Amino acid sequence: MTRPLKLHPDRLFPADPATRAIARSLYAGVRDLPIISPHGHTDPAWFAADALFSDPASLLIVPDHYVFRMLMSQGVPLDALGVPTVYGSATEADPRAIWRLFADNYHLFRGTPSRMWLDWVFAEIFGLDVILERATADHYFDTIDAALKTDAFRPRALFERFGIELIATTESPLDSLEHHRTIRESDWSGRVVTAYRPDPVVDPEAAGFAANVRTFCAAAGEDAGRWDGYLAAHRFHRARFREAGATSTDHGHPSAATANLSEADAAALYARVMAGSGAADAELFRAQLLTEMARMSIDDGMVMQLHPAVYRSHNVAVLARFGRDKGGDIPLQGEFVHALKPLLDLFGNDPRLTLILFTLDEDVYSRELAPLAGHYPALRLGPPWWFHDSPEGMRRFRERTTETAGFYNSVGFNDDTRAFLSIPARHDVARRMDCAWLAQLVAEHRLPEDEAHEVARALAYDLAKAAYKL
Ligand SMILES: [Zn+2]
Repeated sequence: MTRPLKLHPDRLFPADPATRAIARSLYAGVRDLPIISPHGHTDPAWFAADALFSDPASLLIVPDHYVFRMLMSQGVPLDALGVPTVYGSATEADPRAIWRLFADNYHLFRGTPSRMWLDWVFAEIFGLDVILERATADHYFDTIDAALKTDAFRPRALFERFGIELIATTESPLDSLEHHRTIRESDWSGRVVTAYRPDPVVDPEAAGFAANVRTFCAAAGEDAGRWDGYLAAHRFHRARFREAGATSTDHGHPSAATANLSEADAAALYARVMAGSGAADAELFRAQLLTEMARMSIDDGMVMQLHPAVYRSHNVAVLARFGRDKGGDIPLQGEFVHALKPLLDLFGNDPRLTLILFTLDEDVYSRELAPLAGHYPALRLGPPWWFHDSPEGMRRFRERTTETAGFYNSVGFNDDTRAFLSIPARHDVARRMDCAWLAQLVAEHRLPEDEAHEVARALAYDLAKAAYKL
């Protein structure tokens, strides 16, 4: 006996009928707005080559750390899910076997956003109308596999079908940006831009840091032996990224620390980290670089994003066998008030700078982030990120930030994903949750309904475009 898969039209809306009716009306006004995806990790090669995706497992399971972290937590080995090892040794190579294992364990995702996104993908993209479980695994695999072999499921066709107005990918300055060039020079009109993520040449604790910096400086024709050469190389690569459409930079640091060193102290610190000094120097160098990036942003107009405080690759055995980004990243405590002060002392009041702050520590929403963004003109609040990109995470974000920072110090939604097919589902969840939150304000007579309609549109579309200068 199969069970029907049906997405309820009122999903995520308030249960109270009067409030639900307001949410429905607000959502009707934003449901079909184009998608602006100003920060994420899709592969620009997809849109450059426009090749067919190979099979259901390699598209939906093998690259998705949200999926395999949950399966692994219940004892499913990553090898059995086809996750490649760092040695290139064999793991499960049969996509149907991987799919069946996933289907057998699909109940593990009950109550999670992954379940909501995946069900949306199955129903809306592939037209599946029964729930995924052991009995329907092969039906799912065959339906999805057949669809993926058709032109309608090529990356560019899906981009258009999803109503994406613009998508930003994220590249390191060591990237040639060749795929972005191919996209720009093609006759396709889809807007795919890059973002400047310099962590491999900013974080002295990144693998191959000194060699990365030498490559980075050489490509810019600058002397890696000098601090001013290193800074000039950043200016060179930022200009190269802007030519590829970038309007933003992104910084994934272990903390939000910033610093304001004298030129001589910064130059001496640069020499020390290039020679391989310790953790304290590394933290100070990253801190100084955030300030340097802010200074350059004021000159070239690029918006800064800070994604701090994650303990990357916490599971040492998974790191050793499978490498980074395998679901073993765990949030750390956040601290922004002291950490950002050196940068804010210099640039916090400068309207030419936009610094968008993200956190995985919800404790700082009301205590630190909303008061900071509700004061400094340079600061904005990024949407609930990663573990909190979820209905409850979105509700908590609005509850804890709105009264102090308002709606207009937030920047709309980021899907921040590699999972291309889930992008419309993620934006839809954000639109529904924002409408649900606004409906509550309207029902309690805290906001007139016509203004709620304006805010709903801003949160779904206008604020992202404005904050990211798109
Ligand atoms: Zn990201």
